Amino acid sequence: MQKKPFVTKEQLQEITKTYPTPFHLYDEAGIRRNAEALKAAFAWNEGFREYFAVKATPNPFLMKLLHEYDCGCDCSSKTELMLSEACGITGQHIMFSSNDTPAEEFVLADQLGGIINLDDFTHIEVLEKALGRIPETISCRFNPGGVFQMSNGIMDNPGDSKYGMTEAQLFEAFRVLKAKGAKRFGIHAFLASNTVTNEYYPKLAGILFDLAVRLEKETGADVAFINLSGGIGVPYRPEQEPNDIAVIGEGVRRRFEEILVPAGMGDVAIYTELGRFMMAPYGCLVTTAIHEKHTHKEYVGVDACAVNLMRPAMYGAYHHITVMGKEDAPCDRMVDVVGSLCENNDKFAIDRMLPAIDKGDMLVIHDTGAHGFSMGYSYNGKLKSAELLLREDGSVQLIRRAETPSDYFATFDCFEEFAHLTK
Ligand SMILES: *Cc1c(COP(=O)(O)O)cnc(C)c1O
Repeated sequence: MQKKPFVTKEQLQEITKTYPTPFHLYDEAGIRRNAEALKAAFAWNEGFREYFAVKATPNPFLMKLLHEYDCGCDCSSKTELMLSEACGITGQHIMFSSNDTPAEEFVLADQLGGIINLDDFTHIEVLEKALGRIPETISCRFNPGGVFQMSNGIMDNPGDSKYGMTEAQLFEAFRVLKAKGAKRFGIHAFLASNTVTNEYYPKLAGILFDLAVRLEKETGADVAFINLSGGIGVPYRPEQEPNDIAVIGEGVRRRFEEILVPAGMGDVAIYTELGRFMMAPYGCLVTTAIHEKHTHKEYVGVDACAVNLMRPAMYGAYHHITVMGKEDAPCDRMVDVVGSLCENNDKFAIDRMLPAIDKGDMLVIHDTGAHGFSMGYSYNGKLKSAELLLREDGSVQLIRRAETPSDYFATFDCFEEFAHLTK
């Protein structure tokens, strides 16, 4: 499928009159359309709720936008909990799926009325000590170990992942938690990341539904919800076939009817914690070509760098690039598209066939709406970009300003001799 930006060159020329590149731009219409499609796909399940994985795109404007569709927040840290609270998203709309969790973070999650999802058996004791009790609603994260494989060859490696409890630990955790007063139980698992197949959720659901039936039978704990977590992917590459969320929802429903309903568990709520699927395609990084360099290879230098989008440097991830205004020009030049970090992995594309790029051309780097801005860092003294929202009516809203040097120096404000840098 041809990947087309959700914004036109003319729109970008207008936007850059006010906001210089680089910036992340988000597509309100796309976010809304997708949130509606997810809701519709799971409408068969009365208790269904998506908890947006805040770490993917921790921006209050976007979190509130999703909250209009009843999405809650999946938080992994104290500041994400604080952000969720600041958005007015609290109570059972918070899922606290953390790991290696500091005790004080359990306290805040509990104060906000959130659901605590325990990553490890030993956290039961930490939690009880921190709160002085065990909450009535509690969730445990499961890790079956081994290799998780699907028919199209996609697989992931739960046996190598640090998350979750073994099956034996999970059964014991339910017994212990029940004895300590827990009444509503949840099961959570995240077994494969960025799956571009409609098969992942139904397969995971089958595993967790079977487990839930056995857990209820053997421990007497009431399983109230099953959290399929994240992992539904997006087609970063043009040749990839996108997931069909309606097919995925129907696949989960079938397993539900086959396994939970006959066991008398037809009232179990399905939860999801999607990040990438909710946001990645509806964000892009807009950057300008500022240099070309011809040495042992051909380079195009842009004004963004890995600080704005780390996935290519960190995972060798593919992000499609459109040269605005040259959509129909032949891709007859092989180039590396690079940023300015003193780090040779600061490349948005390596040996990519693109049209001839002139200085001043705007490039749209696709699918940066999740795990894009949020993974940014400040190496080489680089500052984080602005985030902009392209509204449904075509207007543009600043939803996070770009950093300035004073933000970079802010943590020196306790030293009088550097105070002038923070102003
Ligand atoms: C990262 C994460 C998610 C979201 O993952 P996506 O791949 O963005 O869908 C959900 N739950 C937990 C616990 C996570 O760590």
